[in-house]
Amino acid sequence: MNTNMLGTEEMVAKRGLRLLRMLEDHPQPLIQLSPEDRVLEYNPASVPLLEAWRWTAFTEAPEMVKRLAKAARARGEQVEMEVAVGTRRYTLVAVASSDGVVGLYGREITTRGLESEPRLEVAGGDVSKPSGGPERGDALTGLPNREVLVNGLGRLLERAVERGGRVALIKVNIDNCRDINAAYGHRFGDEIIRLIGHCIRDHVGERDLVCRDAGDEFLVVLSGFAERSSITTLCDALLAAVPYRASGAGLEMQVSLSMGFAVYPEDADSAETLMEHANHALSEAKNAGRGCWRDYLSAARANPLISGSHLCRRLLEALRHRRLRPFYQPIVDAYDGRVAGFEALVRWQDAELGWVSPQEFIPVAEARGLAVEMGRQVAGAAMEQLGRWRAAGHEIGVSLNVSKRSLMEPAFVAEMRALLYVRGLRAEWVTLEATEQQALLHDATCREALERAAASGFRMALDDFGSGHSSFDMVADLPFHELKIDMSLARKAKSGRGRRIVQSILEMCRTLGVESVVEGIEDERLAKVLRAIGASRLQGYYYARPMPAEAVMDYLATKGTVASADAKATR
Ligand code: C2E
Ligand code: MG
Ligand code: MG
Repeated sequence: MNTNMLGTEEMVAKRGLRLLRMLEDHPQPLIQLSPEDRVLEYNPASVPLLEAWRWTAFTEAPEMVKRLAKAARARGEQVEMEVAVGTRRYTLVAVASSDGVVGLYGREITTRGLESEPRLEVAGGDVSKPSGGPERGDALTGLPNREVLVNGLGRLLERAVERGGRVALIKVNIDNCRDINAAYGHRFGDEIIRLIGHCIRDHVGERDLVCRDAGDEFLVVLSGFAERSSITTLCDALLAAVPYRASGAGLEMQVSLSMGFAVYPEDADSAETLMEHANHALSEAKNAGRGCWRDYLSAARANPLISGSHLCRRLLEALRHRRLRPFYQPIVDAYDGRVAGFEALVRWQDAELGWVSPQEFIPVAEARGLAVEMGRQVAGAAMEQLGRWRAAGHEIGVSLNVSKRSLMEPAFVAEMRALLYVRGLRAEWVTLEATEQQALLHDATCREALERAAASGFRMALDDFGSGHSSFDMVADLPFHELKIDMSLARKAKSGRGRRIVQSILEMCRTLGVESVVEGIEDERLAKVLRAIGASRLQGYYYARPMPAEAVMDYLATKGTVASADAKATR
Protein backbone atom coordinates (compact mmCIF):
# COMPACT_ATOMS: atom_id res chain seq x y z
CA MET A 1 0.00 0.00 0.00
CA ASN A 2 1.58 3.30 -0.95
CA THR A 3 1.65 6.24 1.41
CA ASN A 4 -0.85 8.09 -0.67
CA MET A 5 -3.38 5.32 -0.15
CA LEU A 6 -2.60 5.25 3.52
CA GLY A 7 -3.24 8.97 3.68
CA THR A 8 -6.61 8.53 2.04
CA GLU A 9 -7.52 5.66 4.32
CA GLU A 10 -6.46 7.54 7.40
CA MET A 11 -8.54 10.47 6.35
CA VAL A 12 -11.48 8.26 5.59
CA ALA A 13 -11.09 6.40 8.86
CA LYS A 14 -11.00 9.65 10.83
CA ARG A 15 -14.09 10.89 9.13
CA GLY A 16 -15.71 7.52 9.67
CA LEU A 17 -15.12 7.84 13.39
CA ARG A 18 -16.73 11.23 13.51
CA LEU A 19 -19.66 9.99 11.53
CA LEU A 20 -20.03 6.89 13.61
CA ARG A 21 -20.71 8.93 16.71
CA MET A 22 -23.34 10.87 14.87
CA LEU A 23 -25.01 7.96 13.24
CA GLU A 24 -25.12 5.31 15.89
CA ASP A 25 -28.61 6.13 17.02
CA HIS A 26 -30.07 6.58 13.58
CA PRO A 27 -33.09 4.31 13.19
CA GLN A 28 -32.36 3.37 9.57
CA PRO A 29 -29.38 1.48 8.10
CA LEU A 30 -26.40 3.69 7.32
CA ILE A 31 -23.29 2.08 5.89
CA GLN A 32 -20.13 3.71 4.71
CA LEU A 33 -18.11 2.06 1.95
CA SER A 34 -14.44 2.65 1.22
CA PRO A 35 -13.37 3.43 -2.37
CA GLU A 36 -12.59 -0.31 -2.56
CA ASP A 37 -16.12 -1.29 -1.51
CA ARG A 38 -15.16 -2.39 1.98
CA VAL A 39 -17.37 -1.60 4.95
CA LEU A 40 -15.85 1.32 6.78
CA GLU A 41 -18.61 2.02 9.26
CA TYR A 42 -22.16 0.96 9.88
CA ASN A 43 -24.73 1.70 12.51
CA PRO A 44 -26.67 -0.84 14.59
CA ALA A 45 -29.73 -0.49 12.36
CA SER A 46 -27.63 -1.91 9.48
CA VAL A 47 -27.00 -5.20 11.26
CA PRO A 48 -30.03 -7.08 9.81
CA LEU A 49 -28.90 -6.15 6.31
CA LEU A 50 -25.25 -7.05 6.87
CA GLU A 51 -26.17 -10.34 8.52
CA ALA A 52 -28.57 -11.31 5.77
CA TRP A 53 -25.85 -10.68 3.23
CA ARG A 54 -23.17 -12.32 5.40
CA TRP A 55 -21.22 -9.20 4.76
CA THR A 56 -18.51 -8.26 7.23
CA ALA A 57 -15.55 -5.94 7.30
CA PHE A 58 -13.48 -8.87 6.02
CA THR A 59 -15.66 -9.99 3.14
CA GLU A 60 -16.50 -8.37 -0.14
CA ALA A 61 -19.65 -6.37 -0.61
CA PRO A 62 -22.55 -8.20 -2.26
CA GLU A 63 -22.55 -7.80 -6.05
CA MET A 64 -25.67 -5.61 -6.12
CA VAL A 65 -24.18 -3.23 -3.55
CA LYS A 66 -21.00 -3.00 -5.63
CA ARG A 67 -23.06 -2.20 -8.71
CA LEU A 68 -24.99 0.45 -6.82
CA ALA A 69 -21.80 2.04 -5.45
CA LYS A 70 -20.21 1.97 -8.90
CA ALA A 71 -23.20 3.74 -10.42
CA ALA A 72 -23.18 6.39 -7.67
CA ARG A 73 -19.47 7.08 -8.27
CA ALA A 74 -19.87 7.18 -12.03
CA ARG A 75 -22.94 9.41 -12.07
CA GLY A 76 -21.85 11.71 -9.27
CA GLU A 77 -25.42 11.81 -8.05
CA GLN A 78 -27.63 9.75 -5.83
CA VAL A 79 -28.78 6.37 -7.12
CA GLU A 80 -31.14 4.02 -5.40
CA MET A 81 -32.52 0.51 -5.58
CA GLU A 82 -34.98 -1.60 -3.70
CA VAL A 83 -33.71 -4.65 -1.85
CA ALA A 84 -35.54 -7.42 -0.02
CA VAL A 85 -34.06 -8.95 3.10
CA GLY A 86 -36.27 -11.76 4.42
CA THR A 87 -39.68 -10.21 4.88
CA ARG A 88 -38.29 -6.69 4.96
CA ARG A 89 -37.93 -4.40 2.04
CA TYR A 90 -35.64 -1.42 1.86
CA THR A 91 -34.85 1.35 -0.50
CA LEU A 92 -31.08 1.58 -0.56
CA VAL A 93 -29.76 4.96 -1.58
CA ALA A 94 -26.10 5.41 -2.50
CA VAL A 95 -24.31 8.75 -2.57
CA ALA A 96 -20.65 9.04 -3.51
CA SER A 97 -18.20 11.68 -2.33
CA SER A 98 -15.50 12.85 -4.69
CA ASP A 99 -12.91 10.72 -2.81
CA GLY A 100 -14.81 7.55 -3.74
CA VAL A 101 -16.34 6.93 -0.32
CA VAL A 102 -19.96 5.87 -0.69
CA GLY A 103 -22.68 6.33 1.88
CA LEU A 104 -25.51 3.81 1.75
CA TYR A 105 -28.73 4.92 3.35
CA GLY A 106 -31.39 2.29 3.81
CA ARG A 107 -35.02 3.21 4.18
CA GLU A 108 -37.28 0.45 5.30
CA ILE A 109 -40.43 0.44 3.23
CA THR A 110 -41.96 -2.81 4.43
CA THR A 111 -44.43 -1.29 6.79
CA ARG A 112 -45.43 1.66 4.72
CA GLY A 113 -47.88 -0.23 2.50
CA LEU A 114 -48.89 3.09 1.03
CA GLU A 115 -48.44 2.19 -2.60
CA SER A 116 -52.19 2.37 -3.14
CA GLU A 117 -52.47 5.74 -1.40
CA PRO A 118 -52.62 8.80 -3.61
CA ARG A 119 -49.17 10.22 -4.22
CA LEU A 120 -48.35 13.86 -4.13
CA GLU A 121 -48.26 15.27 -7.60
CA VAL A 122 -46.87 18.67 -8.22
CA ALA A 123 -45.75 20.41 -11.38
CA GLY A 124 -47.30 17.62 -13.39
CA GLY A 125 -45.29 14.75 -11.98
CA ASP A 126 -44.66 12.50 -9.04
CA VAL A 127 -42.00 14.05 -6.89
CA SER A 128 -42.48 12.32 -3.60
CA LYS A 129 -39.49 10.12 -4.31
CA PRO A 130 -36.17 11.88 -4.28
CA SER A 131 -35.30 10.93 -7.81
CA GLY A 132 -35.67 14.25 -9.58
CA GLY A 133 -33.43 14.99 -12.51
CA PRO A 134 -30.93 17.79 -12.35
CA GLU A 135 -33.45 20.48 -13.25
CA ARG A 136 -35.88 19.45 -10.51
CA GLY A 137 -33.74 17.75 -7.92
CA ASP A 138 -31.14 18.97 -5.50
CA ALA A 139 -27.80 17.40 -6.43
CA LEU A 140 -26.56 17.04 -2.86
CA THR A 141 -29.54 15.39 -1.20
CA GLY A 142 -31.36 14.02 -4.22
CA LEU A 143 -34.50 15.61 -2.83
CA PRO A 144 -36.69 17.82 -4.99
CA ASN A 145 -35.61 21.43 -4.85
CA ARG A 146 -37.49 24.54 -3.82
CA GLU A 147 -38.62 25.25 -7.34
CA VAL A 148 -40.62 22.03 -7.41
CA LEU A 149 -42.44 23.05 -4.29
CA VAL A 150 -43.00 26.64 -5.34
CA ASN A 151 -44.42 25.52 -8.67
CA GLY A 152 -46.72 22.94 -7.19
CA LEU A 153 -47.82 24.33 -3.85
CA GLY A 154 -50.63 26.53 -5.18
CA ARG A 155 -52.24 23.60 -6.97
CA LEU A 156 -51.80 21.38 -3.97
CA LEU A 157 -53.60 23.88 -1.76
CA GLU A 158 -56.44 24.16 -4.28
CA ARG A 159 -56.85 20.41 -4.28
CA ALA A 160 -56.73 20.27 -0.49
CA VAL A 161 -59.58 22.79 -0.33
CA GLU A 162 -61.63 20.80 -2.83
CA ARG A 163 -61.30 17.76 -0.60
CA GLY A 164 -61.88 19.73 2.59
CA GLY A 165 -58.33 18.87 3.67
CA ARG A 166 -55.44 20.85 5.05
CA VAL A 167 -51.81 21.25 4.19
CA ALA A 168 -48.97 21.96 6.60
CA LEU A 169 -45.72 23.54 5.57
CA ILE A 170 -42.78 22.95 7.90
CA LYS A 171 -39.59 24.86 7.40
CA VAL A 172 -36.59 23.10 8.89
CA ASN A 173 -33.25 24.74 9.51
CA ILE A 174 -30.05 23.02 10.54
CA ASP A 175 -28.70 25.05 13.44
CA ASN A 176 -25.10 26.18 13.15
CA CYS A 177 -24.48 24.59 9.77
CA ARG A 178 -22.21 27.48 8.93
CA ASP A 179 -20.14 26.88 12.05
CA ILE A 180 -19.90 23.19 11.24
CA ASN A 181 -18.64 24.03 7.76
CA ALA A 182 -16.10 26.34 9.29
CA ALA A 183 -14.97 23.80 11.87
CA TYR A 184 -14.93 20.61 9.82
CA GLY A 185 -15.02 21.69 6.21
CA HIS A 186 -17.76 21.92 3.62
CA ARG A 187 -17.65 18.24 2.72
CA PHE A 188 -18.54 17.32 6.25
CA GLY A 189 -21.23 20.01 6.29
CA ASP A 190 -22.62 18.57 3.07
CA GLU A 191 -22.66 15.14 4.61
CA ILE A 192 -24.76 16.45 7.46
CA ILE A 193 -27.17 18.21 5.12
CA ARG A 194 -27.52 15.00 3.15
CA LEU A 195 -28.08 12.87 6.23
CA ILE A 196 -30.61 15.21 7.69
CA GLY A 197 -32.44 15.40 4.37
CA HIS A 198 -32.76 11.63 4.44
CA CYS A 199 -33.69 11.59 8.08
CA ILE A 200 -36.58 13.99 7.41
CA ARG A 201 -37.61 11.95 4.39
CA ASP A 202 -37.64 8.84 6.58
CA HIS A 203 -39.91 10.43 9.11
CA VAL A 204 -42.68 11.51 6.78
CA GLY A 205 -45.14 9.51 4.76
CA GLU A 206 -44.55 8.53 1.15
CA ARG A 207 -47.09 11.02 -0.09
CA ASP A 208 -45.58 13.92 1.79
CA LEU A 209 -43.03 16.11 0.13
CA VAL A 210 -39.57 16.95 1.43
CA CYS A 211 -37.57 19.56 -0.48
CA ARG A 212 -34.19 21.07 0.02
CA ASP A 213 -34.90 24.76 0.21
CA ALA A 214 -31.54 26.42 0.13
CA GLY A 215 -28.32 25.91 2.01
CA ASP A 216 -29.18 24.30 5.29
CA GLU A 217 -32.96 24.57 5.04
CA PHE A 218 -35.63 22.07 4.10
CA LEU A 219 -39.31 22.41 3.38
CA VAL A 220 -41.75 19.68 4.28
CA VAL A 221 -45.31 19.60 2.95
CA LEU A 222 -47.72 17.38 4.83
CA SER A 223 -51.25 16.62 3.85
CA GLY A 224 -53.87 14.16 4.96
CA PHE A 225 -53.45 14.76 8.69
CA ALA A 226 -56.42 15.17 10.96
CA GLU A 227 -55.03 17.11 13.89
CA ARG A 228 -52.44 19.80 14.31
CA SER A 229 -50.91 17.56 16.93
CA SER A 230 -49.74 15.17 14.17
CA ILE A 231 -47.43 17.93 12.97
CA THR A 232 -46.07 18.66 16.41
CA THR A 233 -45.52 14.92 16.95
CA LEU A 234 -43.50 14.82 13.74
CA CYS A 235 -41.49 17.88 14.79
CA ASP A 236 -40.77 16.26 18.17
CA ALA A 237 -39.68 13.07 16.44
CA LEU A 238 -37.30 15.02 14.20
CA LEU A 239 -35.86 16.87 17.17
CA ALA A 240 -35.31 13.56 18.91
CA ALA A 241 -33.73 12.01 15.80
CA VAL A 242 -31.19 14.74 15.18
CA PRO A 243 -29.19 15.49 18.28
CA TYR A 244 -26.14 14.59 16.19
CA ARG A 245 -22.80 15.37 17.57
CA ALA A 246 -19.93 16.26 15.31
CA SER A 247 -16.51 15.87 16.77
CA GLY A 248 -12.92 16.07 15.72
CA ALA A 249 -9.94 18.38 15.85
CA GLY A 250 -10.43 18.69 19.62
CA LEU A 251 -13.86 20.19 19.17
CA GLU A 252 -17.35 18.87 19.65
CA MET A 253 -20.41 20.52 18.14
CA GLN A 254 -24.07 19.72 18.41
CA VAL A 255 -26.10 19.41 15.28
CA SER A 256 -29.71 20.27 15.94
CA LEU A 257 -32.76 21.49 14.07
CA SER A 258 -35.08 24.47 14.38
CA MET A 259 -38.50 24.21 12.80
CA GLY A 260 -41.46 26.42 12.16
CA PHE A 261 -44.75 25.46 10.60
CA ALA A 262 -48.00 26.94 9.40
CA VAL A 263 -51.18 25.23 8.22
CA TYR A 264 -53.38 26.01 5.25
CA PRO A 265 -56.10 27.22 5.26
CA GLU A 266 -56.31 28.27 8.91
CA ASP A 267 -52.99 30.17 9.12
CA ALA A 268 -52.66 31.44 5.58
CA ASP A 269 -54.77 32.23 2.56
CA SER A 270 -52.28 31.47 -0.19
CA ALA A 271 -49.14 29.50 -0.97
CA GLU A 272 -47.14 32.68 -0.58
CA THR A 273 -48.44 33.53 2.88
CA LEU A 274 -48.12 29.90 3.97
CA MET A 275 -44.41 30.08 3.12
CA GLU A 276 -44.10 33.41 4.84
CA HIS A 277 -45.82 32.20 7.98
CA ALA A 278 -43.79 29.01 8.23
CA ASN A 279 -40.79 31.30 7.93
CA HIS A 280 -42.00 33.48 10.79
CA ALA A 281 -42.60 30.47 12.96
CA LEU A 282 -39.05 29.31 12.17
CA SER A 283 -37.67 32.73 13.14
CA GLU A 284 -39.52 32.43 16.43
CA ALA A 285 -37.94 29.00 17.01
CA LYS A 286 -34.53 30.50 16.32
CA ASN A 287 -35.26 33.42 18.65
CA ALA A 288 -36.32 30.96 21.31
CA GLY A 289 -32.80 29.54 21.30
CA ARG A 290 -32.93 27.02 18.44
CA GLY A 291 -33.21 23.26 18.73
CA CYS A 292 -36.99 23.58 18.99
CA TRP A 293 -40.09 24.08 16.88
CA ARG A 294 -42.71 26.81 16.80
CA ASP A 295 -46.24 26.73 15.54
CA TYR A 296 -47.24 29.83 13.57
CA LEU A 297 -50.55 30.01 15.39
CA SER A 298 -49.12 30.17 18.90
CA ALA A 299 -46.19 32.34 17.79
CA ALA A 300 -48.63 34.79 16.24
CA ARG A 301 -50.86 34.70 19.31
CA ALA A 302 -47.93 35.37 21.63
CA ASN A 303 -46.83 38.26 19.46
CA PRO A 304 -49.54 39.49 17.13
CA LEU A 305 -47.02 41.62 15.29
CA ILE A 306 -45.19 38.62 13.98
CA SER A 307 -48.08 38.14 11.66
CA GLY A 308 -45.35 39.85 9.73
CA SER A 309 -47.08 40.01 6.41
CA HIS A 310 -49.70 42.24 8.00
CA LEU A 311 -47.08 44.36 9.70
CA CYS A 312 -45.17 44.48 6.45
CA ARG A 313 -48.24 45.61 4.51
CA ARG A 314 -48.89 48.36 7.05
CA LEU A 315 -45.24 49.39 6.91
CA LEU A 316 -45.33 49.56 3.13
CA GLU A 317 -48.40 51.73 3.38
CA ALA A 318 -46.71 53.97 5.94
CA LEU A 319 -43.63 54.37 3.76
CA ARG A 320 -45.73 55.03 0.69
CA HIS A 321 -47.45 57.89 2.51
CA ARG A 322 -44.29 58.96 4.30
CA ARG A 323 -45.84 58.45 7.71
CA LEU A 324 -42.66 57.36 9.47
CA ARG A 325 -40.88 60.21 11.10
CA PRO A 326 -37.91 60.63 13.34
CA PHE A 327 -37.96 61.71 16.95
CA TYR A 328 -34.89 63.47 18.24
CA GLN A 329 -32.87 62.69 21.35
CA PRO A 330 -30.27 65.20 22.48
CA ILE A 331 -26.59 64.37 22.83
CA VAL A 332 -25.35 66.69 25.53
CA ASP A 333 -22.19 68.04 27.04
CA ALA A 334 -21.41 65.97 30.15
CA TYR A 335 -20.59 69.07 32.24
CA ASP A 336 -23.36 71.53 31.56
CA GLY A 337 -26.03 69.63 29.66
CA ARG A 338 -25.87 71.95 26.67
CA VAL A 339 -26.84 70.37 23.38
CA ALA A 340 -24.18 69.21 20.93
CA GLY A 341 -26.61 67.55 18.54
CA PHE A 342 -29.60 65.25 18.21
CA GLU A 343 -29.85 61.62 17.23
CA ALA A 344 -32.74 60.95 14.86
CA LEU A 345 -34.66 57.82 15.94
CA VAL A 346 -37.35 56.54 13.64
CA ARG A 347 -40.90 56.40 15.02
CA TRP A 348 -44.07 54.92 13.60
CA GLN A 349 -47.60 55.43 14.79
CA ASP A 350 -49.92 53.29 12.73
CA ALA A 351 -53.66 54.01 12.57
CA GLU A 352 -54.46 50.36 13.25
CA LEU A 353 -51.50 49.01 15.21
CA GLY A 354 -50.80 52.12 17.29
CA TRP A 355 -47.18 52.89 18.18
CA VAL A 356 -44.96 50.16 16.83
CA SER A 357 -41.54 49.92 18.42
CA PRO A 358 -38.46 50.22 16.19
CA GLN A 359 -37.24 46.90 17.60
CA GLU A 360 -40.31 45.34 15.98
CA PHE A 361 -40.51 47.06 12.63
CA ILE A 362 -36.85 47.67 11.81
CA PRO A 363 -36.13 43.92 11.51
CA VAL A 364 -39.22 43.60 9.27
CA ALA A 365 -38.01 46.50 7.14
CA GLU A 366 -34.57 44.87 6.91
CA ALA A 367 -36.02 41.49 6.02
CA ARG A 368 -38.43 42.85 3.41
CA GLY A 369 -36.04 45.10 1.59
CA LEU A 370 -37.59 48.28 2.97
CA ALA A 371 -34.68 49.42 5.12
CA VAL A 372 -33.10 51.55 2.40
CA GLU A 373 -36.32 53.43 1.72
CA MET A 374 -36.92 53.87 5.44
CA GLY A 375 -33.40 55.24 5.91
CA ARG A 376 -33.87 57.60 3.00
CA GLN A 377 -37.09 59.04 4.44
CA VAL A 378 -35.64 59.41 7.94
CA ALA A 379 -32.49 61.05 6.55
CA GLY A 380 -34.57 63.44 4.42
CA ALA A 381 -36.77 64.44 7.37
CA ALA A 382 -33.82 64.83 9.76
CA MET A 383 -31.88 66.99 7.31
CA GLU A 384 -34.94 69.12 6.84
CA GLN A 385 -34.94 69.74 10.60
CA LEU A 386 -31.20 70.30 10.70
CA GLY A 387 -31.68 73.02 8.08
CA ARG A 388 -34.27 74.69 10.35
CA TRP A 389 -32.11 74.48 13.47
CA ARG A 390 -29.13 75.86 11.63
CA ALA A 391 -31.22 78.62 10.06
CA ALA A 392 -32.33 79.55 13.59
CA GLY A 393 -28.67 79.92 14.56
CA HIS A 394 -28.21 76.69 16.53
CA GLU A 395 -24.79 75.28 15.78
CA ILE A 396 -25.64 71.66 16.29
CA GLY A 397 -25.44 68.45 14.28
CA VAL A 398 -27.72 65.52 13.64
CA SER A 399 -26.90 61.83 13.92
CA LEU A 400 -28.49 59.24 11.66
CA ASN A 401 -28.57 55.48 12.12
CA VAL A 402 -27.52 53.77 8.94
CA SER A 403 -28.48 50.20 8.23
CA LYS A 404 -26.16 47.75 6.56
CA ARG A 405 -28.52 47.58 3.59
CA SER A 406 -28.12 51.31 3.04
CA LEU A 407 -24.35 51.06 3.30
CA MET A 408 -24.39 48.36 0.65
CA GLU A 409 -26.32 50.57 -1.78
CA PRO A 410 -23.86 51.82 -4.38
CA ALA A 411 -25.60 55.20 -4.51
CA PHE A 412 -25.79 55.65 -0.73
CA VAL A 413 -23.11 58.32 -0.33
CA ALA A 414 -24.21 60.17 -3.47
CA GLU A 415 -27.80 60.23 -2.20
CA MET A 416 -26.78 61.54 1.20
CA ARG A 417 -24.75 64.27 -0.46
CA ALA A 418 -27.72 65.16 -2.64
CA LEU A 419 -29.94 65.47 0.45
CA LEU A 420 -27.41 67.89 1.94
CA TYR A 421 -26.92 69.80 -1.25
CA VAL A 422 -30.56 70.66 -1.87
CA ARG A 423 -30.78 72.12 1.64
CA GLY A 424 -27.46 73.92 1.57
CA LEU A 425 -26.10 71.85 4.48
CA ARG A 426 -22.57 70.67 5.20
CA ALA A 427 -21.57 67.02 5.55
CA GLU A 428 -19.67 67.68 8.78
CA TRP A 429 -22.96 68.56 10.50
CA VAL A 430 -24.21 65.05 9.89
CA THR A 431 -22.98 62.00 11.81
CA LEU A 432 -23.65 58.58 10.32
CA GLU A 433 -23.96 55.87 12.96
CA ALA A 434 -23.20 52.29 12.01
CA THR A 435 -23.43 49.50 14.56
CA GLU A 436 -20.61 47.11 15.20
CA GLN A 437 -22.37 44.29 13.40
CA GLN A 438 -23.08 46.44 10.38
CA ALA A 439 -19.61 47.82 10.13
CA LEU A 440 -18.06 44.40 9.95
CA LEU A 441 -14.42 44.96 9.29
CA HIS A 442 -14.23 42.16 6.81
CA ASP A 443 -17.15 43.26 4.70
CA ALA A 444 -15.40 45.05 1.86
CA THR A 445 -18.53 46.78 0.54
CA CYS A 446 -19.45 48.20 3.96
CA ARG A 447 -15.93 49.23 4.63
CA GLU A 448 -15.68 51.00 1.32
CA ALA A 449 -18.99 52.81 1.87
CA LEU A 450 -17.82 53.98 5.32
CA GLU A 451 -14.58 55.23 3.80
CA ARG A 452 -16.35 57.03 0.96
CA ALA A 453 -18.80 58.67 3.36
CA ALA A 454 -15.91 59.81 5.57
CA ALA A 455 -14.03 61.10 2.53
CA SER A 456 -17.13 63.10 1.59
CA GLY A 457 -16.91 64.88 4.93
CA PHE A 458 -19.58 63.06 6.97
CA ARG A 459 -18.76 62.34 10.60
CA MET A 460 -18.77 58.60 11.20
CA ALA A 461 -19.79 56.98 14.49
CA LEU A 462 -19.46 53.42 15.69
CA ASP A 463 -22.75 52.76 17.51
CA ASP A 464 -23.53 50.33 20.34
CA PHE A 465 -19.89 49.78 21.21
CA GLY A 466 -19.64 47.12 23.92
CA SER A 467 -22.99 45.49 23.18
CA GLY A 468 -21.76 42.68 20.99
CA HIS A 469 -18.51 41.56 19.54
CA SER A 470 -16.62 44.73 20.27
CA SER A 471 -13.44 45.02 18.40
CA PHE A 472 -10.83 47.64 18.97
CA ASP A 473 -9.58 46.92 15.45
CA MET A 474 -12.72 48.54 14.17
CA VAL A 475 -11.97 51.79 15.94
CA ALA A 476 -8.37 51.73 14.80
CA ASP A 477 -8.89 50.60 11.21
CA LEU A 478 -12.06 52.32 10.10
CA PRO A 479 -12.56 56.06 9.71
CA PHE A 480 -14.66 56.63 12.83
CA HIS A 481 -14.82 60.07 14.41
CA GLU A 482 -17.05 59.01 17.25
CA LEU A 483 -17.58 55.97 19.44
CA LYS A 484 -20.97 55.46 21.08
CA ILE A 485 -20.66 53.36 24.20
CA ASP A 486 -23.72 51.17 24.55
CA MET A 487 -25.95 51.51 27.59
CA SER A 488 -25.27 47.91 28.65
CA LEU A 489 -21.61 48.78 29.08
CA ALA A 490 -22.34 52.25 30.48
CA ARG A 491 -24.37 50.70 33.33
CA LYS A 492 -21.35 48.67 34.38
CA ALA A 493 -19.59 51.94 35.21
CA LYS A 494 -21.53 51.90 38.49
CA SER A 495 -19.20 49.18 39.82
CA GLY A 496 -15.45 49.56 40.35
CA ARG A 497 -14.24 47.13 37.71
CA GLY A 498 -16.79 48.21 35.11
CA ARG A 499 -15.84 51.81 35.79
CA ARG A 500 -12.19 51.10 35.03
CA ILE A 501 -13.18 49.41 31.76
CA VAL A 502 -15.32 52.36 30.64
CA GLN A 503 -12.60 54.75 31.78
CA SER A 504 -9.98 53.00 29.66
CA ILE A 505 -12.28 53.08 26.62
CA LEU A 506 -12.76 56.82 27.15
CA GLU A 507 -9.00 57.23 27.44
CA MET A 508 -8.45 55.22 24.29
CA CYS A 509 -10.86 57.54 22.47
CA ARG A 510 -8.98 60.60 23.68
CA THR A 511 -5.66 59.09 22.60
CA LEU A 512 -7.04 58.31 19.15
CA GLY A 513 -8.71 61.72 18.82
CA VAL A 514 -12.12 60.01 18.63
CA GLU A 515 -15.14 61.66 20.26
CA SER A 516 -16.99 59.46 22.76
CA VAL A 517 -20.70 59.47 23.56
CA VAL A 518 -22.07 57.34 26.39
CA GLU A 519 -25.64 56.20 25.79
CA GLY A 520 -28.48 55.21 28.10
CA ILE A 521 -27.91 57.62 30.98
CA GLU A 522 -31.04 57.32 33.10
CA ASP A 523 -30.00 58.92 36.36
CA GLU A 524 -27.88 61.63 37.89
CA ARG A 525 -25.65 59.11 39.66
CA LEU A 526 -24.43 57.49 36.44
CA ALA A 527 -23.99 60.88 34.82
CA LYS A 528 -21.77 61.95 37.75
CA VAL A 529 -19.67 58.78 37.62
CA LEU A 530 -19.13 59.18 33.89
CA ARG A 531 -18.19 62.83 34.24
CA ALA A 532 -15.68 61.86 36.90
CA ILE A 533 -13.97 59.36 34.59
CA GLY A 534 -13.76 61.80 31.72
CA ALA A 535 -16.86 61.30 29.55
CA SER A 536 -17.51 64.38 27.45
CA ARG A 537 -20.83 63.62 25.71
CA LEU A 538 -23.84 61.85 27.21
CA GLN A 539 -27.21 60.76 25.93
CA GLY A 540 -30.17 59.22 27.74
CA TYR A 541 -33.59 59.56 29.32
CA TYR A 542 -32.05 61.49 32.22
CA TYR A 543 -31.51 64.40 29.84
CA ALA A 544 -34.45 63.82 27.54
CA ARG A 545 -36.42 61.08 25.88
CA PRO A 546 -36.57 61.16 22.09
CA MET A 547 -38.94 64.02 21.24
CA PRO A 548 -40.92 65.05 18.19
CA ALA A 549 -39.44 67.74 15.94
CA GLU A 550 -41.93 70.31 17.27
CA ALA A 551 -40.42 70.05 20.77
CA VAL A 552 -36.80 70.52 19.72
CA MET A 553 -36.72 74.31 19.41
CA ASP A 554 -38.17 74.75 22.92
CA TYR A 555 -35.65 72.29 24.31
CA LEU A 556 -32.83 74.18 22.61
CA ALA A 557 -34.13 77.46 23.98
CA THR A 558 -33.99 76.20 27.58
CA LYS A 559 -30.74 74.19 27.42
CA GLY A 560 -28.66 76.14 24.91
CA THR A 561 -26.08 74.60 22.64
CA VAL A 562 -22.44 73.83 23.15
CA ALA A 563 -20.55 77.12 22.73
CA SER A 564 -19.00 77.82 19.37
CA ALA A 565 -15.59 77.29 20.96
CA ASP A 566 -16.72 73.73 21.61
CA ALA A 567 -18.49 73.35 18.29
CA LYS A 568 -15.37 71.91 16.70
CA ALA A 569 -15.90 68.76 18.75
CA THR A 570 -19.35 68.25 17.26
CA ARG A 571 -18.07 68.33 13.72
P1 C2E B 1 -29.50 53.19 18.95
O1 C2E B 1 -29.02 53.86 17.71
O2 C2E B 1 -28.46 52.68 19.88
O3 C2E B 1 -30.46 54.22 19.65
C1 C2E B 1 -30.53 54.39 21.02
C2 C2E B 1 -31.70 53.68 21.57
O4 C2E B 1 -31.69 53.78 22.97
C3 C2E B 1 -33.03 54.32 21.14
O5 C2E B 1 -33.99 53.30 21.08
C4 C2E B 1 -33.33 55.23 22.30
O6 C2E B 1 -34.70 55.56 22.40
C5 C2E B 1 -32.87 54.37 23.44
N1 C2E B 1 -32.51 55.13 24.64
C6 C2E B 1 -31.96 56.36 24.68
N2 C2E B 1 -31.74 56.71 25.96
C7 C2E B 1 -32.12 55.69 26.74
C8 C2E B 1 -32.13 55.48 28.15
O7 C2E B 1 -31.73 56.30 28.96
N3 C2E B 1 -32.61 54.29 28.59
C9 C2E B 1 -33.07 53.34 27.72
N4 C2E B 1 -33.51 52.22 28.24
N5 C2E B 1 -33.09 53.53 26.39
C10 C2E B 1 -32.61 54.70 25.89
P2 C2E B 1 -34.96 53.16 19.85
O8 C2E B 1 -35.42 54.48 19.38
O9 C2E B 1 -35.98 52.15 20.27
O10 C2E B 1 -34.07 52.58 18.73
C11 C2E B 1 -33.50 51.32 18.84
C12 C2E B 1 -32.52 51.08 17.77
O11 C2E B 1 -33.15 51.07 16.50
C13 C2E B 1 -31.47 52.18 17.65
O12 C2E B 1 -30.47 51.96 18.59
C14 C2E B 1 -31.00 52.02 16.23
O13 C2E B 1 -30.05 50.99 16.15
C15 C2E B 1 -32.26 51.58 15.55
N6 C2E B 1 -32.84 52.74 14.85
C16 C2E B 1 -33.59 53.74 15.35
N7 C2E B 1 -33.91 54.63 14.39
C17 C2E B 1 -33.36 54.17 13.24
C18 C2E B 1 -33.35 54.62 11.87
O14 C2E B 1 -33.89 55.66 11.51
N8 C2E B 1 -32.68 53.85 10.97
C19 C2E B 1 -32.04 52.70 11.34
N9 C2E B 1 -31.40 52.02 10.39
N10 C2E B 1 -32.04 52.24 12.60
C20 C2E B 1 -32.68 52.97 13.54
MG1 MG C 1 -27.74 55.09 17.18
MG1 MG D 1 -26.66 52.83 20.30
